[in-house]
Amino acid sequence: MHLNFESGRLTDVVFHASPNHSKRSSQVELVVIHCISLPQGEYNNDNVEKLFLNSLDSRHHKSFLGLKKLNVSSHIYIKRTGEILQFVPFNRVAWHAGVSSFNGRENCNEFSIGIELQGSVDQSFEEAQYKALNEIIKILKSSFPLKAIVGHSDIAPTRKTDPGPWFDWEKIIKI
Ligand SMILES: [Zn+2]
Repeated sequence: MHLNFESGRLTDVVFHASPNHSKRSSQVELVVIHCISLPQGEYNNDNVEKLFLNSLDSRHHKSFLGLKKLNVSSHIYIKRTGEILQFVPFNRVAWHAGVSSFNGRENCNEFSIGIELQGSVDQSFEEAQYKALNEIIKILKSSFPLKAIVGHSDIAPTRKTDPGPWFDWEKIIKI
């Protein structure tokens, strides 16, 4: 796996083109770690993929109703098995962080890469997910002037709790 700078895509990774992205005008300095599962804690489905592709049927589960008309995406999604999916090229802005701030700078989407781990804030993550995450971090580190890797909860503390207390920061490569 490596990064194709031209396309902004990782090689050897399944790419699903999310329509939810915008022009990137700032350089990438931040990686934001998230976790998500739909419904929360249920992993044996492709509902997150559908969410990022605007094709999730909100009638499918009562917790999906709030997701209707929500246009979100993440550059990368790492499933429980360690499988890596990409939805937005790194040279485009993905819509993962929402209202957020890092070191006083707002709208973190503009200068970050978003990585979603399939998971839940009240459960530990799989070794295969850390392995995949570290492979990606290694590539990003050598490709962008990264300043930090943070959790969604670090940049939107009043709104977000992911990736949560079970995410082991000791297991990921330092910047
Ligand atoms: Zn998040």
